Amino acid sequence: MIKVEHLEKTYKSNKKNQTHAIKDVSFTLPDSGMIFIIGKSGSGKSTLLNLIGGLDDFDSGKVIVDGNDLSKMNHTDFNNYRSGYVSFIFQDHFLINELKVKDNVSLGLNVINENNMDRVKDLLEKVDLSNKIDSYPIELSGGERQRVAVARAIIKDPKLILCDEPTGNLDFKTTKLIFDILKELSKEKLVIVVSHDMDNALIYADRIIEIFGGEILSDKTKNNNYNKDLSFDGNSVIIPKNKALDEKDIEYINSIDSKNYKLGEEPYSNTSELVDSNRKVELKKNKFYKGRIGKISKSFIFRNLKKMIVTSIIISVIIACFQVFISLYSFNSSYEIMKNYEKNNVEEILIRRNYYVNENPGDSMRFDKRVYPVSEEDIASLKNNGYEGNVYKVYNYFLYQNYTGIAYEQFYNDSMSLDTFYAKESFGAICCNEDYLKSKFGSIDVIKGDIYEKEGVIITDYMADSLIKNNTSISSYDDIVGRYYYTNVYQCYKYVKAIIKTDYKEVFKDYIDKANKNNGIIIDKNYVNDDEDFGEFSRLIKTKYGLGYSFSTNFIEDNINSKSTGWVPMRFVNIEANGTDFGVVNALSAIRCSESLNHGEAMFNLKYFNTIFNANYSVDDIDSFEPITITIKKYYDDTKQKNSNLYGEVTLKIVKLVNDDSNHDLFIREDDYSLFKDISMIPYGLLLDDVSSSIKCIDDISNGYYISDCLVTNIDLISKYIFIFKKVALLVSIVLAVLIVVYLAFYEMSNISSNKREIGILKAIGMKQRTISMIFIFQQILLSIMVFVTAMLFSYILIRVANNLLQSSIRLYAEVYIASITLIRFRIAYMLVFLALTIVVIMASCIIPILLLTRIKPMNIIKAKE
Ligand code: ADP
Ligand code: MG
Repeated sequence: MIKVEHLEKTYKSNKKNQTHAIKDVSFTLPDSGMIFIIGKSGSGKSTLLNLIGGLDDFDSGKVIVDGNDLSKMNHTDFNNYRSGYVSFIFQDHFLINELKVKDNVSLGLNVINENNMDRVKDLLEKVDLSNKIDSYPIELSGGERQRVAVARAIIKDPKLILCDEPTGNLDFKTTKLIFDILKELSKEKLVIVVSHDMDNALIYADRIIEIFGGEILSDKTKNNNYNKDLSFDGNSVIIPKNKALDEKDIEYINSIDSKNYKLGEEPYSNTSELVDSNRKVELKKNKFYKGRIGKISKSFIFRNLKKMIVTSIIISVIIACFQVFISLYSFNSSYEIMKNYEKNNVEEILIRRNYYVNENPGDSMRFDKRVYPVSEEDIASLKNNGYEGNVYKVYNYFLYQNYTGIAYEQFYNDSMSLDTFYAKESFGAICCNEDYLKSKFGSIDVIKGDIYEKEGVIITDYMADSLIKNNTSISSYDDIVGRYYYTNVYQCYKYVKAIIKTDYKEVFKDYIDKANKNNGIIIDKNYVNDDEDFGEFSRLIKTKYGLGYSFSTNFIEDNINSKSTGWVPMRFVNIEANGTDFGVVNALSAIRCSESLNHGEAMFNLKYFNTIFNANYSVDDIDSFEPITITIKKYYDDTKQKNSNLYGEVTLKIVKLVNDDSNHDLFIREDDYSLFKDISMIPYGLLLDDVSSSIKCIDDISNGYYISDCLVTNIDLISKYIFIFKKVALLVSIVLAVLIVVYLAFYEMSNISSNKREIGILKAIGMKQRTISMIFIFQQILLSIMVFVTAMLFSYILIRVANNLLQSSIRLYAEVYIASITLIRFRIAYMLVFLALTIVVIMASCIIPILLLTRIKPMNIIKAKE
């Protein structure tokens, strides 16, 4: 039983424009029967039906359906009501275009958590559509679609069927079929038909309620004894009222003798009040047959596939661009260097202490080739940060003064000839043990000398050959071993204790052969950058053949001693005199002299004294010199001396000035030579033998070290340019990220709004809002997966292409050897974070509008689209 009491509904399109669609409407309807609500277009029929069906809100009054007061129901109750109790047949059928006929019908059953294809087939047979079971609504005629809608409405066996002009635009045959079915059903259920078609009302209605302008005009019930066929009363033919006589009727009347006619009784009389049945029907909880969510979503996805593919491609392209820029932004030259080493199976690398003058620990200061001390803490720090291999200190013992630049640059500034193939100087001396040396060269094959001697270094045959090549005073190994050899290139004495044999001639056989064939030229400067082996060559010289070796545990102590002759070079030392600071001196050299001095006393070269100490002694008043005490200090970081730690210091009493032509500043006693050990002999670098784990402490390396390698020079050159664009790259990355988020949000919102009709229909037939959300979320999950896959693919391809382009451009302009540097790296971490963000955006921008939509009354959703 349905009771409608004083129902009011006004549509407020805007403040001025209001339509009072339902005005104080009251009536009571029985539990079964076929009720027609008749009225002109715009009289409020559909509104009334939607209010009864819970598709729209009313302003005041009451609708009580089997004891359930609609005005007191929340939207879950309404869902239950629409799914379990009532069914709709709309004039424009509202089928889901994405679903086949059978699935559309099946939906009607699914909303009450059932699925029964046999029943679907039976019903489709009943509405004469068994041949269209697998068609899509779009392939059907209007009449066929309406029959599908009828099947969908009645399949769940509802208590109440609401039909809004169900046969509005249909042909006679379909109209009859539909009304016959509804009439049959109305024996047990209540069928309310809204229509402006009085003819059919008179045929089928048990009761006709006529409305006009939102008000009830009349309410009539069919008389029980009304006979709609021609009949006889005595000799009179009784013609039913409202009967339109057809040809058959006329033929019949003509065939009989009697010519008396009487009109039959009134078919309808005013409806009398129904007595309240007090029936209360509990609304069943609405569920959804989960098994079909996937199938339904799939159908939606199928329709949106093209759009989804285009979207995921667009997003992927943007993500790929984002990758390129964020990768440029996060370019870390040390990391690239290490990766390159790892790729090329480099076994050892030499890192050197680097102090940044520049506040930005970027890459521009890598060109600083000064020698700075490394400390035990530096080694400990590398190990703490994940380095797992051995660390060997490299001392400046063998370097020209404290400066490696010249020897080092010979490898890439010139064409490589046999002259430059041989090193002009060594790359330092390393402290190691016998096992290390054995494993490095396979075995220790001593050509000459004693490798266990305390002072001096073991050199390779390559170094020995280099010394011969570059020094006129050295012509054989005999001139080197057991002696302080003097290099006329850099004018320095060093002690060599032994020469060991290496495989350098085999390793560099190609180079040597090439030189022999090619007028001594190995690699033409102009083609240096095409030679991939060149980096490998220079690296091997610096980490293997060009080093000196010592088993000493205290290298500095063992190598600064009284036996040595020569001078002590000191670079970048701070100088004080009588407590006054005279700043940094770039180079200071001390040479031994035989002058009689007391321990700790020294003489200063007049030439330099005046410049360093702001004095103005001349040759004439040299004897009037007042002795002063000077302190020479070496700091870890000579550019930030005041803030950095002191490495070592020497205090000397200057007792005399000397007028000397040499480049030496200080003249000291033989035994005071060792005073300088801590500031002249320093460990300047570290040799690492585990490249893979050195990548773990890459931050440490890139912030504090400089890698002595020509590959580095190139990477640094490049990273300098990248550094210029870093901030722009970041900006572009951010813009691209925002673009993706905005694009996705728009896409999702437009996607949802284009599915509004479907959401409205699903809601109108009683589908749970969680189920509706699931169907659409499924699409988003698929989109997310598509974006994920295509973004990965596109990023990978774009990055490869961009890298190749950049590399080929660099090859055109780089004057020096270039390795295959990866400038733009596929950064999986960024990728994953970004894709996670993308998926969150996809999900959020789909779930929020869906949740909002499912809270709105179905009619408003469906109509909002129009
Ligand atoms: P019928 O179904 O009898 O043709 P309706 O119930 O659809 O009539 O409409 C009744 C009145 O309410 C009409 O004047 C119509 O213009 C108005 N109306 C219907 N729906 C809306 C709406 N969503 N917003 C504003 N006015 C509406
Ligand atoms: Mg209507």
